[in-house]
Amino acid sequence: MRYLSTRGGVEPLSFAEAVMMGLGTDGGLLVPEVIPSLPAETLRDWAQLDFQALAVEVLTPFVGDAIPRADLTDLVERSYAGFTHPEVTPVTEHAERRWLELFHGPTAAFKDVALQLLGNLFEYLIVREGGALRILGATSGDTGSAAIYGVRGKAGIDIFILHPKGRVSPVQERQMTTVLDANVHNIAIEGTFDDAQRIVKALFSDLPFKQEYRLGAVNSINLARILAQTIYYFYAWGRLSGGDPERRLSFAVPTGNFGDVFAGWLAKRMGLPVDRLIIATNRNDILTRFVATGVYQAGEVYQTLSPAMDIQLASNFERYLYYLLDEDPAAVRTLLLEMAETGALKVDGERHRRVREDFDARAVSDGETLAEIRRVEQRSGYILCPHTAVGACAAAEVQDAVVLATAHPAKFTEAVVEAIGREPPPPPSLQGVLERETRCAELPADADAVASFIRHTLGASAV
Ligand SMILES: *Cc1c(COP(=O)(O)O)cnc(C)c1O
Repeated sequence: MRYLSTRGGVEPLSFAEAVMMGLGTDGGLLVPEVIPSLPAETLRDWAQLDFQALAVEVLTPFVGDAIPRADLTDLVERSYAGFTHPEVTPVTEHAERRWLELFHGPTAAFKDVALQLLGNLFEYLIVREGGALRILGATSGDTGSAAIYGVRGKAGIDIFILHPKGRVSPVQERQMTTVLDANVHNIAIEGTFDDAQRIVKALFSDLPFKQEYRLGAVNSINLARILAQTIYYFYAWGRLSGGDPERRLSFAVPTGNFGDVFAGWLAKRMGLPVDRLIIATNRNDILTRFVATGVYQAGEVYQTLSPAMDIQLASNFERYLYYLLDEDPAAVRTLLLEMAETGALKVDGERHRRVREDFDARAVSDGETLAEIRRVEQRSGYILCPHTAVGACAAAEVQDAVVLATAHPAKFTEAVVEAIGREPPPPPSLQGVLERETRCAELPADADAVASFIRHTLGASAV
């Protein structure tokens, strides 16, 4: 399999090159040259597999011969060994609803599923091909800690993670800043998540800087993350359908950067019998407005009870746009230019109809989020994290929807206490995190300041 950029300015890449490149050198996102199409018999066979065996099968058509199967199997085994549930991503049932629990990894949020694998992939490729990698990423909370846990202590890798100061939950902040490994560098930015993301994009598009310091991405623009996230859609379907191709499932996906729901869309394009894909947003509703109107236009960023979704411009949206525009990079560039010039882009009637065929979407208020946490707890004792509650609200009218449970509720105690008056018991990975020693730099929302921090930190060892 080869990989192309959504903007058409990158020579076809191997899987290894695409993983190491992260964001395309032309500013586009990397996509597979073709989306594999799976026959019903394959899906039926896959429904019998455990998570790890399924992961190897799902990844194989994308990895091709870039990694020998035995090595890929070993990478997968090591990536999911630290999960505390034997099924890795179990499907549970509470309050008459199915929950795809994605929070059994080391940082108790779904991003571990992709980032444990990505950290091992990076290390594998660096050891095999030589060199070093400096990871730079922006986080609204969960990505940062999951990325840090993915690469902490790994030889040949340094990680710089920007988070918006005071705008991530205390537990999330401590999960990042209490990792004291010498290769982990936390930076609190005086600004919003979008500011942090803008700085990261600016540094990545400064090619001399990017190349001198061998910067790679770990935020949701890295293609390997999307691929890893398709695995649990296949897994959930296998568990609930027993492999019956007639059995279609809907998924409600708490959405921020559009990575998780794009993975679901990709799984559907590969042939998974998915009925509705529900984009669940909080008050930051750019994607919900896009599905409703065909106009993609950023608004103000609001702080909500589901902070990992307090995002306006969704970094994976361009991948979807590329397919919506029939894989035509010139058309992607035209729309992005329209966006840059006018602050909005618009898709026409026929394309807009396809968007509405692909997705349902709903914006959920903080009040509804709290009410849903309360309702589910009262009916079943099951405690939702606020992001998961947004997903559950958005799925309220859809029969047979599986809600992606994207984080453990103990990561977001404030919202949970507001809803039900008590704290959820923490999973083992979060116990004692608030008491541990921390290390973190504070910088203004300015790309130059971050660049000089990186230079200074890496010193002469960078080149
Ligand atoms: C990151 C995150 C989301 C949003 O996922 P995207 O892939 O960015 O759309 C939702 N819920 C939680 C808990 C998250 O950490």
